[in-house]
Amino acid sequence: MSLKVLKIGTSLLKGNERTSTAEVIGTFSQCISEGIDKGDRFVLVTSGAVGLGCQCIGIKKPPVDVVSLQAVAAIGQGQLMALYDQSMRKFHRRVAQVLLTRSDFGSRSRYNNASNTLKKLLDWGVLPVVNENDALSPEELRYGDNDTLSALVASALEADQLILLTDIDHLYSSDPRMDKEAKPIRDIHNAKELNSLISISGAGQGGMWGTGGMSTKLDAARIATTSGIEVHLADGRDPKTLKDLLNGCRGGTVFHANPKPIGNRKSWLAHALRPVGAIQLDQGACNALNHRGASLLLVGVKKVVGQFEANEPVKILTPEGEELARGLSSFSSQGLKTALESITSSGASPIVIHRDVLVLTKGQFS
Ligand code: GLU
Repeated sequence: MSLKVLKIGTSLLKGNERTSTAEVIGTFSQCISEGIDKGDRFVLVTSGAVGLGCQCIGIKKPPVDVVSLQAVAAIGQGQLMALYDQSMRKFHRRVAQVLLTRSDFGSRSRYNNASNTLKKLLDWGVLPVVNENDALSPEELRYGDNDTLSALVASALEADQLILLTDIDHLYSSDPRMDKEAKPIRDIHNAKELNSLISISGAGQGGMWGTGGMSTKLDAARIATTSGIEVHLADGRDPKTLKDLLNGCRGGTVFHANPKPIGNRKSWLAHALRPVGAIQLDQGACNALNHRGASLLLVGVKKVVGQFEANEPVKILTPEGEELARGLSSFSSQGLKTALESITSSGASPIVIHRDVLVLTKGQFS
């Protein structure tokens, strides 16, 4: 029995001249329901609220101003749930709406709270249908794409697999719209291969890469694979794709899971939190963190960057300014500056970031 997080993008749900959104949802629901019958468990992360909202009020393109966009999403989200509810009922399955915002993952207790609700729904055999809370998320706190959200949900639940269904068959070595030589990539084996793709993905926004663009797919893959979750990117335009995937076939591109996952807490620290400041270290402290899994002590701090409160997430930087780690500082930025001014060479140095709330992220966010 495996737990799969399935993300379905807007480009698939909008349907086409021959197939309506309701029919598309009907086909996916049938596959999911067959998967549940076989013993797998699913969390569905679905887009489509904005698209359906636009359809409902008869506008062709999503509005550009944020308030109208949020209002359109509020209309469409109800429609979206109604469609999933109707089609899953045909297979005697219930659905539950779970709308998340970035701030729901911002504190450990809210993160656990969201995970526990999702787990309870799964225990009850109900299909959680997750979307970003588009109607309410403030602009600066929006994920904006469900790729990242789906990877965070998969990590929070320690899922076995994340399936990203989109309107392209593979990732390519470059943007196939621009480059005839672009080659499909079937396997991404490790973080090094993934990072090299992330560095060329800037050109791949929108269009053929799906709503969130290639870069958000790669970000999602980075989050999930470091948490030990295998990611399949597959072309959801063909109804057979999901059926095959759920019968054990592979997606067009498979991102292989890191065999040494960082664990749920470290995944939360590394991926769900947004650092609000930074602490730069001397070389000795970098070595202690990097090679000995040590806590960060005051004596190793060289510089404090930005403003933060105690227990807020910060980046930890090398003397060259590169990101080495992330963690929760037990000092505020002001408290840390004051402590640095009065540092003495005698006695034990206070802990600035305990190793339990510190995660190495070197090379992950370059
Ligand atoms: N949450 C948005 C919606 O439901 C879509 C985000 C995305 O396309 O990934 O319309």
